[in-house]
Amino acid sequence: MTISQQWITSADQVLFNNYGRFPLVPVRGEGCRLWDAEGKSYLDFVAGVAVNSLGHCHPNVVRAIREQAGMMLHCSNLYYIPKQIELAQLLCANSFADRVFFCNSGAEANEAALKLARKYSRNKFGENRFEVISALCSFHGRTIGTISATGQDKVKTGYDPLLQGFRYVPYGASDALEKAVTATTCAVLLEPLQGEGGVNVPPPGYFKKVREICDRHNLLLILDEVQSGCGRTGKLFAYEHEGIEPDIMTLAKALAGGPPIGAMLAKEELASTFGPGSHGSTFGGNPLIAAAAVAALRTLLEEGILDNCLRMGRYLVERLHELQKRYPFIVDIRGRGLILGMELAVPGAGFVRKAMDKGVLINCTVDKVLRFVPPLVVNEAEIDEMIAVLDGIFAEEGK
Ligand SMILES: *Cc1c(COP(=O)(O)O)cnc(C)c1O
Repeated sequence: MTISQQWITSADQVLFNNYGRFPLVPVRGEGCRLWDAEGKSYLDFVAGVAVNSLGHCHPNVVRAIREQAGMMLHCSNLYYIPKQIELAQLLCANSFADRVFFCNSGAEANEAALKLARKYSRNKFGENRFEVISALCSFHGRTIGTISATGQDKVKTGYDPLLQGFRYVPYGASDALEKAVTATTCAVLLEPLQGEGGVNVPPPGYFKKVREICDRHNLLLILDEVQSGCGRTGKLFAYEHEGIEPDIMTLAKALAGGPPIGAMLAKEELASTFGPGSHGSTFGGNPLIAAAAVAALRTLLEEGILDNCLRMGRYLVERLHELQKRYPFIVDIRGRGLILGMELAVPGAGFVRKAMDKGVLINCTVDKVLRFVPPLVVNEAEIDEMIAVLDGIFAEEGK
């Protein structure tokens, strides 16, 4: 048995089997590459599902973690944490927001957003305003609250009773959204581009209309940028493509360059809703993770990475379209920056497995959409390598 096989056997005995894991044990990463326990290398176009946006072990992030680890690992939010303050300053200076609340994951950030929206609306408009409209095919996390907010049955099955107060509308249809507004609606929760739901890009002008609807009915617009944020679409935040601003935004995945983090950002008027004791998190914004995030965000802003994301995104789309011309089972190619989806007329899981055997990691979501979310530092040669492998396995399928 190889070392990898030994780990997989052990995992089967002690871990919950809730992930449907691939038989791969990566132990080291650098840039766009991972190595398994046997030393085989993999080109990584999954990047921790849009977490490792600076590539694996970016030296700036590693250095910041090492320095902070020798100073202080954890400190309660009963006290002030300089790195957390610095991170919030960076986020506010580069977004619509005035204030930030830190937590540890995307789901937690969305929980905070839902709590803030409810409390704000209750204070401002009275008891009966708590309902949130979200989209079909959305994904907002795995807590009871966020599966209730998610417009996909597959994450909800078996967990009844769920949280009350959600209504779901088709993504991209502003008329349906406005029709769903009632006297009890307090907020609209949307992804600027749906990730898990199949890399769905909204039609042009959709978010302008959503903003108008929210303004007309005094609703808060909450944007879940957990996957689309932090440079993934070629802008720091995906809402910047739409010419609008949200009232609340949630971040997580790539924010700290790898380590776990979540954040909820909001305008001043809303932020005052959360007074002392109203919400909290033990680890949220802790010094170690905040130091990593400051380094990650500075790197993203100062080292031309957004520009690389846009250029490499365009190049990858071009190369994917070349494949589409030759393989009729490729139905659609869509996305923005370096979150790209290739919809197939056939299931995608087999291709993902074959690509892995050939040393390339890609992801498949909603059964038929291959999702490409490489590190934003990816280069043309790495894209060519991934395309060559994909071409090879598609050619086998065509036979
Ligand atoms: C991944 C994701 C989440 C959940 O984040 P966790 O850190 O796994 O809780 C929420 N919303 C979106 C859009 C995501 O992509």
